[in-house]
Amino acid sequence: MKARNPRTGQEDHEFAVSSREEIAAEAARLRTAQLGWEAMGPEGRAAILMRFADAMEAAAPQIAAALRVDTGRGAVSWIEVQGAVGNIRRWATRGPELFASLDRGPKTSATPGIEIVTDYSAFPLFGAIAPWNFPVILSHIDAVPALMAGCAALVKPSEVTPRFVEPMRDVLTQVPELPLAYVMGGADVGQALIEEVDYICFTGSTATGRKVAEAAARQLIPANLELGGKDPMIITASADPDWAAGVALRSSIVATGQACQSIERIYVAREIAEPFLAALVAGAQAVEITYPDAASGHIGPFIFPSQADKVQAQIDDAKAKGARVLSGGTVEVLGGGKYLRPTILADVTPEMDVMREETFGPVLPVTIYDDLDTAITQANDTEYGLSAAIFAGSLEEAAEIAPRLEAGAISLQDGALTSMVGDATNQSRGTSGLGPSRMGDTGLTRFLREQAHIRQTGTPLLIDAYREGQAG
Ligand code: NAD
Repeated sequence: MKARNPRTGQEDHEFAVSSREEIAAEAARLRTAQLGWEAMGPEGRAAILMRFADAMEAAAPQIAAALRVDTGRGAVSWIEVQGAVGNIRRWATRGPELFASLDRGPKTSATPGIEIVTDYSAFPLFGAIAPWNFPVILSHIDAVPALMAGCAALVKPSEVTPRFVEPMRDVLTQVPELPLAYVMGGADVGQALIEEVDYICFTGSTATGRKVAEAAARQLIPANLELGGKDPMIITASADPDWAAGVALRSSIVATGQACQSIERIYVAREIAEPFLAALVAGAQAVEITYPDAASGHIGPFIFPSQADKVQAQIDDAKAKGARVLSGGTVEVLGGGKYLRPTILADVTPEMDVMREETFGPVLPVTIYDDLDTAITQANDTEYGLSAAIFAGSLEEAAEIAPRLEAGAISLQDGALTSMVGDATNQSRGTSGLGPSRMGDTGLTRFLREQAHIRQTGTPLLIDAYREGQAG
């Protein structure tokens, strides 16, 4: 299978797709390894995960170099690799504490004479299917707590961004005790993976998430789905328009907007709309693309070329329905890569595609509101419910609004904080996801199966207790 370089448009990388037999063999190998892995206990596993983090950190230049080609991003690739290392260390530290705090009993049952002890064991084989937008982070974000829980982990990265796997496999040779492996390929490999594992975590689009959920239902295995979003940001009349514009811009365009938690709709109070829009346009116009010099500028090319076409179609639809383009607006093909400068749209209406469908690009449609209740209703008028943001004159004011938004995580006085905060438990709403939070302690405890040990401390009943003619 070939992979395209997002900066040049060339298919310059070839990789082997895992066959069904290879996937089955890898799953069988991991299942055997998992027995010893879980038997090591939390402290033993944490020590090996720390070694994994050290080895990954030492190989960060190689991993980031591969990721740079995968994604066309320099600074973000480095931050991403460091973030993935930090995620391993965080779980290796928190994991043993969490195991120590598990409620194992014994506790007295409401049934006379019975005492209950709870035993915890991991789902043996965990599987992950990851998207292309943050290939390293999202291939490991669930696998690491699963490993800490005692599972073995089989991961399928996106076929769009496969290059980072080679240096990661080199890292794994330094921690041979770690039962983690990668399988490579597209949808077929994803489906084959689901048939092999006991628990599946999927990160990707809502459309594919439904297919994963169906396949998991056939296998009767749990599926955690982390899907798309259409995150709104509400900016109230008391907010500082300059700060609000700066935060909105960053939250919307970082990584070329190719982040699930990107701000994709802005609702600003009429009282500050004029200075807000002026600051937003000035900020957008100061943003540089990373072409021709990959080492300078702020935002790079689209990773997946058809994504650029989809974003352009949304902009064109909005224009045709009366939106005004205040900056950007046209995908540029430069050196074979597809780029879009920050695009600000005014006079948008709820029926435009850009207000309903996930954009996944650096586009900010701005709606001016006259009363907050209407803004909240419009912000909630979406099938998605991933995250949202509020920028107000004070934290207290933002906190009053937060519970009224239909989303799993709300950033207050900032935007898109879910990408930076790993320990804030949240559950997506609507079509943005399903299952326990990957953030916070449930990120690990969801991989533990509870086994009840029901102890009889009194006298067991005999069959005569059920003899007809005694009751009533
Ligand atoms: P995608 O759904 O196209 O692909 C994701 C993964 O699923 C890839 O590895 C792909 O090979 C695999 N796949 C495709 N078809 C499959 C099938 N039928 N069965 C099993 N696996 C299959 O998503 P994408 O375009 O790579 O990523 C972008 C999407 O991911 C956006 O919608 C974004 O919002 C979402 N996302 C969500 C989060 C989150 O935490 N909620 C984080 C990042 C990205």
